Amino acid sequence: MPDIRPTVGSGALVLNATYEPLCVVSVRRAAILVLTAKAVCVADGDGILHSAHDALPVPSVVRLTRFVRVPYRTHVGLSRRAIFARDGGRCAYCRGPAETIDHVFPRSRGGRHAWENVVAACARCNHTKGDKTPAELGWRLHSLPAAPKGTAWRVLGHRAPDPRWADWLDLRDPLREAEAA
Ligand SMILES: [Zn+2]
Repeated sequence: MPDIRPTVGSGALVLNATYEPLCVVSVRRAAILVLTAKAVCVADGDGILHSAHDALPVPSVVRLTRFVRVPYRTHVGLSRRAIFARDGGRCAYCRGPAETIDHVFPRSRGGRHAWENVVAACARCNHTKGDKTPAELGWRLHSLPAAPKGTAWRVLGHRAPDPRWADWLDLRDPLREAEAA
């Protein structure tokens, strides 16, 4: 295994041989794929990586030289970071900065911990809401919560995309829209 100095950066996007985005790996792992001829570099990042015998540009996007069949996760894992990313860090009720996760239909009354029933919320709205539903308070949700879909979500999860990956990820995905909100 080449001795590659650790570098900063958000990682490298890995494309299948068909150019389909697969996942994000560390820059070090992407460099090893390139050095072992398992992948070719498609887009360079910033800086140069040095191994014992080689120097190569930090990879930002690499493409596998052989097609791999990958079983896809059909849904995005529910996590605090992912919920904040979906909701653009905004409270679902007042659109202020979100600090907490709220169950729209309260858990204490049987509400599910699922994408369709969780929203990012500010502490004030969350506290005021307590064990009530939005309807009981006369509140309206800014948008109906739903599980995020699309290539960018599947590949990135809650990660912010590197602008250099834009050509390979569908930027109309909800992640992008959430960040633009
Ligand atoms: Zn709020």
